[in-house]
Amino acid sequence: MSKPHDYLLIGQGQAGTLLAHFLEQAGKTAHVVDQYNPRSATQVAAGIINPITGRRYVKSWRVDELIPFAKKTYRDLESRLGIPIYHERPILRALFNSREENDWLARTAEPGYGQYMLDAAGLEEYAEKTVPAYSYGEVRHSAQVDIGRLADAYRAYLREKGAITEEVFDYGKLEVAAQGVRYKGLEAQTAVFCEGQHARQNPFFNYLPFGGAKGEVLIVRIPGARFEKILKHRVFIVPLQDGLYWVGSTYGWKFDNDGPTPEARAFLGERLEDILKTPFEVVEHRAAIRPTVKDRRPFLGRHPEFPSLALFNGLGTKGASLGPFWAKHMADFLVKNSTLEEAVDIGRFGGE
Ligand SMILES: Cc1cc2nc3c(=O)[nH]c(=O)nc-3n(C[C@H](O)[C@H](O)[C@H](O)COP(=O)(O)OP(=O)(O)OC[C@H]3O[C@@H](n4cnc5c(N)ncnc54)[C@H](O)[C@@H]3O)c2cc1C
Repeated sequence: MSKPHDYLLIGQGQAGTLLAHFLEQAGKTAHVVDQYNPRSATQVAAGIINPITGRRYVKSWRVDELIPFAKKTYRDLESRLGIPIYHERPILRALFNSREENDWLARTAEPGYGQYMLDAAGLEEYAEKTVPAYSYGEVRHSAQVDIGRLADAYRAYLREKGAITEEVFDYGKLEVAAQGVRYKGLEAQTAVFCEGQHARQNPFFNYLPFGGAKGEVLIVRIPGARFEKILKHRVFIVPLQDGLYWVGSTYGWKFDNDGPTPEARAFLGERLEDILKTPFEVVEHRAAIRPTVKDRRPFLGRHPEFPSLALFNGLGTKGASLGPFWAKHMADFLVKNSTLEEAVDIGRFGGE
């Protein structure tokens, strides 16, 4: 039996990575069990942080707190891991008619919106290389976060520390007692499940109303372009490294597998052909399932019957912006026994 740990984390996507980071900052030890999956949401996401969303151009839930906290967390992790993660990039939002333009302009004038929305957008290279929309707005304080790269670099760091077991977690081997858990020779006070959409198969927490939204994306090369900003036209075009762009994504609420489909490939390809005036080449077609929750709020808390089991999940469609703030909230809850905000507490759905 190895030395007991404070925490055993199951899953090391965006949720598990950030929670491990904040637990370590709090001086706690954690061992991670994770089976790398190229089809996990963290590996497929663009990691866009977009403060202004939807057809009505409203601020995302609690962006004024979430974005500065996210930026600071990613900057800290960049210095710790020695890689760039947080890329501040304005989002150009295509507006398709005068009503949309008027709504955009009206919103920019509202209190609390001016810092996030510009009425005069700077199209730069998009002006020549894309088919023009009616008009454009520009979003500020937006970013693209390399959450897949962050998880990869953090995994390498955990390997160096000998703090990760890379395998599928076997629930049948978990011994649960009031004071702690044991798993294959590992001991910890609390096991925290950070399994993303896989939590639907978790026998302890599958009573929670997990959703799931499948998303498919294309990774493309656009040889004639050097776009710097993110464009939200019919789909998002997001600059990545090495001249590649992320194009997506689809939303599927009913699906029978997590793999790429020819329909989504055709849909995304056609949207891109409609937008671009310059040729592109599809390098990869990827798919994953977002860990969504019905009320669109994260899932944090301890099991109602087994307090040595806890869960951090439900980052849904917005793991890049929600992840840091709620991972810190979860770490404070675990370490300092602080109270969870009701909006994110799994207790809001009752017990088992
Ligand atoms: C197409 C797409 C586009 C997206 N775009 C954005 C975006 O632009 N901006 C944004 O903020 N968010 C975006 N998201 C959402 C974002 O990806 C998620 O919110 C976030 O990555 C969820 O992280 P997670 O750690 O909860 O889950 P996951 O990424 O699913 O990670 C879970 C990890 O746990 C492992 N695991 C699970 N169960 C077990 C087990 N039993 N044993 C061992 N290992 C296990 C998995 O293999 C995986 O490594 C997008 C998602 C998709 C699919």
